[in-house]
Amino acid sequence: MAIGVVAVQGDFAEHAAVLEGAGFSPKLVRGYRDLFGVDGLVLPGGESTTQAKLIDSAGLRSPLEGLIREGMPVLGTCAGLIMLSRTIIGGRPDQWSFDFLDVEVLRNGFGRQVRSFEAELPVAGLLGAMHAVFIRAPVIVAAGEGVDVLAEVAYKFVDGTTRVLPVVVQRNNVLAAAFHPELVGDSRLHVLAFGAPAEKLI
Ligand code: GLN
Repeated sequence: MAIGVVAVQGDFAEHAAVLEGAGFSPKLVRGYRDLFGVDGLVLPGGESTTQAKLIDSAGLRSPLEGLIREGMPVLGTCAGLIMLSRTIIGGRPDQWSFDFLDVEVLRNGFGRQVRSFEAELPVAGLLGAMHAVFIRAPVIVAAGEGVDVLAEVAYKFVDGTTRVLPVVVQRNNVLAAAFHPELVGDSRLHVLAFGAPAEKLI
């Protein structure tokens, strides 16, 4: 199964390595020609403001939009989640998103002081917990009714309040995480997104 990893910016190489380890054939996508023959898509972590610009200038916006709208499975992590969401809070004024997931995200929403953190999270459908690495991650502040929440994190903000927030969300062919499984070599969300023998999910 060939999986296109959008490779304009961010940690696309880590996604490609994880995909390869799980038996997929990753294909770096830098232009629309790279999309031929692809069965699934990854939008990597990185910087969503830059990614939005580069996806546009590479002529990838409408081809990607078309494929995902037709039902091609897609996995987005961190900046990739931002790219898939309906509404971005704290984005650049000209920042666009694909609007494939009915979620509202707040960029860098976990606060300035604690920019990065890690947590062990149970994820619906997976047996063992995931080691979740959050790096200037977006907070999902609202999710529509049709959006399934597969994992949540209890996070204590600097003002002392603790909130339970969705961090893995799915609707139909679109799966997204606020953290980076690709950085710890965990391929299980990729397997969940693109389908593979169930034993790979354990
Ligand atoms: N803060 C980044 C953004 O807004 C996302 C961070 C990440 O992908 N690790 O695009």
